[in-house]
Amino acid sequence: MVDKSKSELGRKRVADLIERRTFEEIKTAVEAFLAAVDEVHDELNGMLVWDFCRRLTDALTAWAEPYTTVPRGSKLNAVIVPPEHAPLMLLKFSLTVDGSPNDIVNGLKKFIGRCDEFVPPICGAITETEISRVLNAAQKAYRLVDIVAPKEPLKILRFNYSHTVYNSQCGLSDNPDCPATVLLYHPKASDVHDRVFIFAHELGHALHQTLTGDVETAPEGFEKFHESVSAKWNTVKEMQECFADAAALSILNVKGLGAHFPSRLSIDMSPNFARFLRGLCESALKKAGKYTEPLPSPNLMWQAKLYPPR
Ligand SMILES: [Zn+2]
Repeated sequence: MVDKSKSELGRKRVADLIERRTFEEIKTAVEAFLAAVDEVHDELNGMLVWDFCRRLTDALTAWAEPYTTVPRGSKLNAVIVPPEHAPLMLLKFSLTVDGSPNDIVNGLKKFIGRCDEFVPPICGAITETEISRVLNAAQKAYRLVDIVAPKEPLKILRFNYSHTVYNSQCGLSDNPDCPATVLLYHPKASDVHDRVFIFAHELGHALHQTLTGDVETAPEGFEKFHESVSAKWNTVKEMQECFADAAALSILNVKGLGAHFPSRLSIDMSPNFARFLRGLCESALKKAGKYTEPLPSPNLMWQAKLYPPR
């Protein structure tokens, strides 16, 4: 016979956790949940641990339900998770939905370690309007959202925190339905980092993952830019960053952003890269059976100034 109060403990801990909103609160609630798991680990040969973990993933899935579909009226397959929900959403993404209790417990422990990487916000964060402008530019020029989010919406998490190391991150997965999740923090310094560029850069990583299925591999044809005067890389990591920067420039279609400009690239490369990117995106759309008509010519886009310099 299992102790009723012990099985009730799991329900209480999950109900408490799901109400938490800040990293500090969530961390405490996760620790309490893990303590409860420890307490019942012998009950019914671990059955209660299964029960607790299942309760948790079910509750998180139900809580995140509103973010699984695109808001009404939005034309793009993307959802923007606001700062008050971003930390708990990150917890959800840290757990494998069909994972074993062991997977869940390990995911929770890893998440606790990650909580300390988040610090009070330093610079102003990107706004929802700015995110939409970048997404619309990327979609208009390259149908990029169609490519990176073929089924499930692209998830963009806005945080009311800065991160000790990164301004932003792109969580890549091998789930072909939705290969990328973009995490946007408050940049750590306003003078060297343009928050709009930072977001477009992450979209570049998302595109890279979708095109190759593995960011260790350069997108087909990208190697030739290595030889050009304007882009140099020595390591896989540098290649990835070069691609993301070049994609960001092409998406934003900016000129004269010298101060914010990544030193890895020269602006001269951008029109060439924009043409190259157009080819990559067209073949990705063809492969996905979504190609309907040629993408706009990058030259014309360049003159049209989709996104004016700021
Ligand atoms: Zn990067």
